Amino acid sequence: MALDKSDAIVLKAFNWSESSRTVIFFTKKYGKIALFDKGGRSIKSKRGRIMPFAPLELTFYNSEKESTGYVSDIDIQEVFSFEKDGTLGRLAYASAGAELLRMLLAEENPQHQLFTYYISYLQQIDSVDKQFIPALLIAFFLRLLSQLGYHPSIAYCIVCNKEIQPKGDNPILFGADNGGSVCNTCQKPGDYYISLSPEMFKIFKALQTASLQEAAIVPIGLSKVTLLQDALTRFISSQAQMDCRLKSLAFIEKLKNSSNK
Ligand SMILES: [Zn+2]
Repeated sequence: MALDKSDAIVLKAFNWSESSRTVIFFTKKYGKIALFDKGGRSIKSKRGRIMPFAPLELTFYNSEKESTGYVSDIDIQEVFSFEKDGTLGRLAYASAGAELLRMLLAEENPQHQLFTYYISYLQQIDSVDKQFIPALLIAFFLRLLSQLGYHPSIAYCIVCNKEIQPKGDNPILFGADNGGSVCNTCQKPGDYYISLSPEMFKIFKALQTASLQEAAIVPIGLSKVTLLQDALTRFISSQAQMDCRLKSLAFIEKLKNSSNK
């Protein structure tokens, strides 16, 4: 096996003994890869320790046909604490990002822009005021979908391509299973639509083209953002034909319900 190096970030680790595990990395050079981490969990290990959500320089033995590669060394570049005004919410949003990447990235398919974008996402999640965090996730989700070729049509009707123009208080219908918004003329009885208020539609549309810096000044409450999360989760589950419901977001739901009490 050949020794190789890449900037990387951990997406998930599966422990299989007290000292060893399999780690799924998002590497800059190769995209998503799984590596064995022999002895990395041991406190006696002399090499750098793997930390979740920390951009790191990964040295590893490349995988070959019949065998998985393995971690040689880790050099942590940056650590996010997610501790500003309490950790739980921020950690859940950082995890939601990792969960989406793990589900949607193809193995060994480099995504340089997404790699840099995910690190910027974590930086923002770590530092922005609490009220702006949900909008960051929606912007991240939308960018990820577009980069991976699943671009939902929000501003234009998915059927006739006409620009969606909100009228008065009438809701805009987002056909998550159809692939985007559906105008009044093209709506079909029996189809499943998610109903967005004109205000939510405007935010949804703006976040599709927003940079993370632009998203980080959009306040959306947790209850409203859940609607957009559901719309995107249902959209991608239908497009990618897999269950893309996020465990980290179920956790956010619980937080929301407990804070409402
Ligand atoms: Zn239409």
